[in-house]
Amino acid sequence: MLIGTQNTLSEVINARGVFTPLGVSRSSKEVCEAVSDALGRHFIMDDLHDAVGREIAEMTNASAATVVHCSAAAITLAVAASMTGSSPGAIKQLPDASGLKSRVILPANHAVNYGHPIEQAIRLAGAKPELVGDNSACGIEDLAHACSKLDACCLVLVSSRLTGGEMLDFRKAVSAAHEHDLPVVIDGAAQDFRIEDLLDTGADVVLISGQKYLAGPTSGLVLGKPDLVSAVRAQEKGIGRGMKASKEVLLGVLTALKLRQQLNKEAWSSDQKEKVARFVSVANTIEGITAKANPDPTNLPFDRVHLCIAKSSEFPDAAQMAAALKAGEPSIWIMDHLTHQSEIVLELVQLTQEEIDTVLDRIREVVSQYQKS
Ligand SMILES: *Cc1c(COP(=O)(O)O)cnc(C)c1O
Repeated sequence: MLIGTQNTLSEVINARGVFTPLGVSRSSKEVCEAVSDALGRHFIMDDLHDAVGREIAEMTNASAATVVHCSAAAITLAVAASMTGSSPGAIKQLPDASGLKSRVILPANHAVNYGHPIEQAIRLAGAKPELVGDNSACGIEDLAHACSKLDACCLVLVSSRLTGGEMLDFRKAVSAAHEHDLPVVIDGAAQDFRIEDLLDTGADVVLISGQKYLAGPTSGLVLGKPDLVSAVRAQEKGIGRGMKASKEVLLGVLTALKLRQQLNKEAWSSDQKEKVARFVSVANTIEGITAKANPDPTNLPFDRVHLCIAKSSEFPDAAQMAAALKAGEPSIWIMDHLTHQSEIVLELVQLTQEEIDTVLDRIREVVSQYQKS
């Protein structure tokens, strides 16, 4: 590490998924080499953008593609594109939305917080989010009514395990918007395994993070209809200036996508399931722990480990377990959204077998230390 010895950084084992505060993912050697090679060269950036966009479109079966700084930026810029189209004057004017359609329809149970509220990514374009329905559900008729409003510029949907309540029928939602000629943007940041499904809904653009399971450099892929994609690209002469993709990012994410194309997804997915099954069977030998494998709620092709900790004064509760794992060296991070029901959740996708063994040892140690104290 290049950080001075006066600053010590913890070593981290990330069983929390593609989590931004932990540096999201680890890139392959090929991606690192592509990034490093690009950093040492000049390019005509417009030509590089066009070429990379065409290749990404071809690989993802999208009609068109471009890359921006990240998915949060992609949300802001897709909204901006739906407000301005390719009009240079309108692009220059943002985030002043005067005279432009600027109401963004968003199901209330899709108003996720991935580090900041998605509404803020929408407002950054100068738009006004309008939430439809409530935390438990969003009815298609209510959505259609909202989409009929004259100042609506787009419908934003989120495909993520972070959404709450009833699953929305995306195809029906897209049709409802299209009946009013309203473009539809799907934020599918962590769903690079499901690009085809998301494009199949008929959405105008699908937004995907290049750095989550794709394990490229931080980037936001914008995939979909050529007009909207070029209107996103055109925002670089406006509010998109600070959200642009740089040369090393374009070539790094292209390499990550090429590797994904070569991946045997079925074999990968069965390896992941096996990894989880092995973890579960060892974890079940730890006193006070009941482990099981749970599928991803949005159909990503892997399971997660749920560890249920016995509710008794003999065992640490789930929040204490999470804190003890984090406080150790290396610092182990798990998903702690279910600690209120005595569960911790681990995502093993990014872990090596050695890291998995360390995690299992630490869990056993935390339980036995608690019993001694
Ligand atoms: C991670 C995430 C984002 C933000 O992605 P970045 O590429 O980090 O900007 C947006 N939406 C959802 C649903 C996410 O999971």
